[in-house]
Amino acid sequence: MNIPLIDLKAQYESLAEELKEATFGILSSANYIMGKTVIDFEKAFAEYVGVKHAISVGNGTDGLVIALKAMGIGEGDEVITTPFTFFATAEAISAVGGTPIFVDVYKDTFNIDVTKIEEKITSKTKAIMPVHIFGQCADMDEINEIAKKHNLLVIEDACQAIGGKYKGRNVGSLGDAAVFSFFPTKNLGCAGDGGMIVTNNDDIAIIAKALKAHGSGENGQKAYNLLNNIEEEVQKAEGANDTVYNPLKYYNYLIGYNSRLDAIQAAILNVKIKEIDNWNAKRREVAEIYNEALKDTDLVTPVTRDYVEPVYHMYVLQSENREAVLEKLKTAGVSTGVYYPVPLHLQKCYKNLGYKEGDMPVSEYLSHRTFAIPVYPELTKDQVDYIISKIK
Ligand SMILES: *Cc1c(COP(=O)(O)O)cnc(C)c1O
Repeated sequence: MNIPLIDLKAQYESLAEELKEATFGILSSANYIMGKTVIDFEKAFAEYVGVKHAISVGNGTDGLVIALKAMGIGEGDEVITTPFTFFATAEAISAVGGTPIFVDVYKDTFNIDVTKIEEKITSKTKAIMPVHIFGQCADMDEINEIAKKHNLLVIEDACQAIGGKYKGRNVGSLGDAAVFSFFPTKNLGCAGDGGMIVTNNDDIAIIAKALKAHGSGENGQKAYNLLNNIEEEVQKAEGANDTVYNPLKYYNYLIGYNSRLDAIQAAILNVKIKEIDNWNAKRREVAEIYNEALKDTDLVTPVTRDYVEPVYHMYVLQSENREAVLEKLKTAGVSTGVYYPVPLHLQKCYKNLGYKEGDMPVSEYLSHRTFAIPVYPELTKDQVDYIISKIK
């Protein structure tokens, strides 16, 4: 039996007719940029997460960059985050001119160790960026408390955790802003790149909306007025949300980016967002079967705090003999992945930050032991049984 780590074809086939209709609808309408389909998805997404604003962007990485910038983070600022994450988390901090300050993680949940945050706060610290890694929510109450005490902003990197819950509250609604990714392998994925910034903060929303489209037009003017304390009517244009025919397009107020969610991707996501709760429930079902079946092996199964409802973006095990286990699974046709083999403080590009091996002992320990096995919603009972028997 051959089982991929994630089966995007199976997901496509489960919705093929609806997805074709959505895609061809955009193709034939020729409304490729912004417009109603994108706005509809932003509304549906804001409602799903339970936040006031959802601002679609070209991908999750751009979302992090634009959100940080909209929060006023830039040159010389420090942002506290985890080294046990996908590179984009720290990359975005660097891209706005800031410095990622790494704090080690917990060995069981893989999330930022909140007891080690305060010792890293300096006069330059502006924000904390927890990552809900593998779909397990970070300890947000403690993080928000530290942030409040030290007057810091909190931005959730929620790229792996759409639909997750923390003490009954939705991931993405727990800080000042949050960012999601619709990369195809994420729990809610499109057919290419896509991302979303969400926030309840009107000012962050206005600036982010301006930055994602060259700081131009009505949104650019609003952001400019806000940043410069100008109280004046903003010039409104028919079609201001339509960046193809927007008459205010060539009036620029901020230096921004070109980072929009394509209408075709929004159309696809409008179909898929209806499935996300079912898909996440299936992932949890599979994960629970694994937890039960593997608890008597010498593998370490993933841990969830009892106040978190995880979404298992990845199901990550730990083994002292990772290479041997992966080799056996490969021979048996079971695909696996290693997340993450190099913690970010040891990446070559961050040599200048001066970290060395031993600085983040838990992240380094995990980087030698963790591996992911298939946990996607379309897995059949036979496939799950096969994976378990081969692991055992
Ligand atoms: C996927 C991911 C991102 C980046 O998203 P893209 O859409 O690929 O740019 C950022 N942070 C984390 C934790 C991710 O998993």
